[in-house]
Amino acid sequence: MALGEFTLINRYFKRPLRPGAAPGTVGVGDDAAILPIKAGHQLVACKDLLVQGRHFFPDVSPHSLGQKSLAVNLSDLAAMGATPIGCLLGLALPTVNEAWLASFANGFNQLADQYDCPLVGGDTVASEAGILISVTALGLLPHDQPGLLRSAAQVDDDIWVSGPLGAPDIALKILNGSLDDPHDRLSVIRATLESPEPRVALGQHLLGVAHAAIDISDGLTQDLGHLLKASGVGAVLDIDRLPIHPALSSFEPSVVEQAVLHGGDVYELCFTAAASRRARIEAIGQTLGLSLMRVGQTRAHLGLVGQTQGRLVELASKGFDHFSGDGT
Ligand code: ADP
Ligand code: MG
Repeated sequence: MALGEFTLINRYFKRPLRPGAAPGTVGVGDDAAILPIKAGHQLVACKDLLVQGRHFFPDVSPHSLGQKSLAVNLSDLAAMGATPIGCLLGLALPTVNEAWLASFANGFNQLADQYDCPLVGGDTVASEAGILISVTALGLLPHDQPGLLRSAAQVDDDIWVSGPLGAPDIALKILNGSLDDPHDRLSVIRATLESPEPRVALGQHLLGVAHAAIDISDGLTQDLGHLLKASGVGAVLDIDRLPIHPALSSFEPSVVEQAVLHGGDVYELCFTAAASRRARIEAIGQTLGLSLMRVGQTRAHLGLVGQTQGRLVELASKGFDHFSGDGT
C-alpha cells in the first residue's frame, strides 16, 4: 500500500532537533515552526522553486536534487551575508516512490546538517504535473548590518567572483544534447551543475568588508547587470581575468566564453568592495580555501562593458530568463 502523507512526513522529514537548537524551538509536527531569534538580529528570508522539466531532468539523482534544492536557497542567504537558521520544504509529488524520497531526503538533510540549517516544516501534496519543490530558507543578520545589498556598490569598487565559471552551463548543454562531449568531460563537471556549493561562510566574512553582492544563478553578465542597475553604477569587466573551470579547456573557445560570461547555475558570489579592501579579501579567500578573483571595476558611466587585451568590447547582458522564450 502506498505510503500515507503523514507516515511519509514522519519517516523522511521529521528528525530530532539538533542538540544545539535554541530552547523553545518547534520543528516538524505542529501547525507551524517556531525559531527563537537571537536578540539584536533581523530575519532574512528567501524562496526558490524547482520544477521538473524546467530546473531538473526527471531522471536526475534524487540525492543531488535534494542537495540542490536547499543549496540554491542557501546561496541566496550567502549573497546577503546572512547566517542560516532553518528552512521549510514544499513538495508536490505525482507518486510516492520510497527509494526516490529516501534519497532526496538524505541529500536535503545532509546539506541542512552541513550548513546548520534544520528543516523545521513544510507541506507535502500530490501533484498532477510532475515534481515541484519549493524551499524557503531563513537566516539572521545583525540588526546594525544592512546586509550585502545589490544596491550598495559604489563607483571605483573592485568586482570579485568567488570561483570558476562556465562548467554548469557546459554540463547542462551536454546533458540536454546540444553540445558534444568527445573527451568525456561531463563526468568531471556534472557535480558543478547538480551539487553546487553555496558560499555561506564567504557571505558572512564579507559583511562589513564588501559593499554589494549577488549570487550567480542566471549568468555573470545578467546577475552583475542587476547589481549595477540597482546601485546606479556601470562597470568594466576584465574578460581575460575571469576564472574558467579547468575542465573546459577541450571545448571550443567561443562555447566556453559564452558559458563563462552568460552561463547560469554557478552559485558563486559576485561582489564589489573598495580597492582598499584587497588584502583583507585575499586573506578571507585563504582562510576559506577559495580563490577569490578580481575581475573588474565599477565606474560612474552606466552599462556593463568588457575589456580584453587592453580594448573595450561590447558585452551583451544576457543570461537565463524564464519568460524570454529562448532562455537567453
Ligand atoms: P497543516 O495541515 O497544518 O498544513 P500538515 O499536516 O500539512 O500540516 O503537516 C504536518 C507537519 O509536517 C507540519 O509541521 C508541517 O510543517 C510538516 N511538513 C509537512 N510536509 C513537510 C515537508 N515536506 N518537509 C518538512 N516538514 C513538512
Ligand atoms: Mg499541510
